[in-house]
Amino acid sequence: MGDMNQIRNIVILTGAGISAESGIDTFRSGGGLWEQHRVEDVATPEAFARDPNLVHRFYDARRAAIQEKEPNAAHFALGRLEAEWPGKLLLVTQNVDDLHERGGASRVLHMHGEHLKAWCTSCDVRSLWRGPLLDRPACPVCQARSLRPDVVWFGEMPYRMGEIYAALREADLFVSIGTSGAVYPAAGFVQNARELGARTLELNLERSQGSHHFHESRLGPASEVVPQWVAEMLG
Ligand code: NAD
Repeated sequence: MGDMNQIRNIVILTGAGISAESGIDTFRSGGGLWEQHRVEDVATPEAFARDPNLVHRFYDARRAAIQEKEPNAAHFALGRLEAEWPGKLLLVTQNVDDLHERGGASRVLHMHGEHLKAWCTSCDVRSLWRGPLLDRPACPVCQARSLRPDVVWFGEMPYRMGEIYAALREADLFVSIGTSGAVYPAAGFVQNARELGARTLELNLERSQGSHHFHESRLGPASEVVPQWVAEMLG
């Protein structure tokens, strides 16, 4: 990448691919199915209204599973970059797992929510949550039995878009890691950043749908290409 000395502000977007080597399935790895389910059956507000028990069982299983997984070298490398980078750095993730935090990153913006939080639709408070929701536990704040997974479903508005676009406007470098470029608005960040003058770099296992928007693509498993790139940046 040219002009490395000019780079101060970095925005990094991560997707399911960065957690793949930790044993968490990506979205589209199962031939269009996500953990044996059609997306429309488990990850939309309509699905939750139609069959809340199915949706709760699905997310209860995902919430339990991620607690058995460990961050990989890519998460740890980004934790190190956040700690040592002298400029601004914003880590935006589409992932709902907590592997970035356990990999040492302290400021992670979860635009699609978090598996380890429950959102009370009565009092609108989000609480840390590690157990199941299927048995309709009471909200720790208002006691209503109105908790749902705090994940952004298809058709819902991602979180904290204002902050993300503000950071993209200031970015000198935008890096996308392990994301397919299929889910908007995240898939459009590369174009926003580039129009505003940022260098753009993709790190992914294979070329993604949006690859042609990036100045540079480096292909390979995240556990290899991310630590290599971080070492270069901190070089
Ligand atoms: P995606 O499944 O659509 O795409 C995953 C991308 O990662 C693909 O481009 C694939 O080539 C790449 N990839 C696979 N293995 C990799 C590896 N070892 N190293 C580097 N790249 C690798 O995922 P997405 O783009 O993040 O979008 C899917 C949506 O699903 C997101 O909104 C996210 O919220 C949700 N999701 C999250 C998790 C999680 O939290 N870990 C898991 C599955 C799905």
